[in-house]
Amino acid sequence: MKKVIEVESLSVFYENNQAVKDISFQAEKGRLIGIVGPNGAGKSTLIKAILGLEKAQGKVTVLGEKVNDVRKQISYVPQRNQIDWDFPVLVEDVVMMGRFTHIPWYKKAGKKDLEIVIESLEKVGMLEYRKRQIGELSGGQQQRVFIARALAQHADLFFLDEPFVGIDVTSEEIIINLLREIRNEGKTVFVVHHDLSKVEQYFDELLLINKELVEYGEVKNVYKPDILSKTYKGSITLFGNDENIMVVSE
Ligand code: ADP
Ligand code: MG
Repeated sequence: MKKVIEVESLSVFYENNQAVKDISFQAEKGRLIGIVGPNGAGKSTLIKAILGLEKAQGKVTVLGEKVNDVRKQISYVPQRNQIDWDFPVLVEDVVMMGRFTHIPWYKKAGKKDLEIVIESLEKVGMLEYRKRQIGELSGGQQQRVFIARALAQHADLFFLDEPFVGIDVTSEEIIINLLREIRNEGKTVFVVHHDLSKVEQYFDELLLINKELVEYGEVKNVYKPDILSKTYKGSITLFGNDENIMVVSE
């Protein structure tokens, strides 16, 4: 099976603090993968390091190439708090940004690009909001627009950082269903996720981290009390047994 992504001994230092410690893993095509771990575990930093947005040591190979050579094929939805929601931009323009990797700098967006924008907005149920300012929308609607931007890019590999934080149930359902669709098309989706209650339902595989990699594998093999307590250390309390885990969060 061809690997979509290979990460070898990835480390990130912020001055004296090592946020990501020597992480290595390889993922295959067509998987929906949750990146879980407590606050400050380095989840966001790991994604940014993989994408080349944060200075890192180690080696990352995406689709058999260096990240910089396959940037068009990678879509990234940052954590909500990293986006300036007051920036004056229309919903349809945010989604068109997903097309920019495909449009040469000397050309305008074409009819085909606009069609893709409309189709992507339809998929997230936000077409009627296309002429609205992004800042006027609710948290869930804003997140759906960012998912539409990611869809419009027609990427092969997706990274979403805590897409379900601060959004309504309907938006969460729309987004998880779309992510499943994308996975079913053979693409690989990484989702940073902090709430453990849904991980069994949402993901095929889990990458559990706390600065270092604690475990990576099929959900049924790694969603286990001992692995969870090793990942979350004192920040969660677990009840139940291997088959029926109850978690009381941070
Ligand atoms: P998570 O996403 O798992 O909550 P982060 O990747 O945001 O964790 O952060 C990991 C660690 O790195 C934390 O201790 C955080 O304070 C630190 N950190 C994150 N970004 C920066 C930065 N730009 N400069 C310095 N320290 C940072
Ligand atoms: Mg984070």
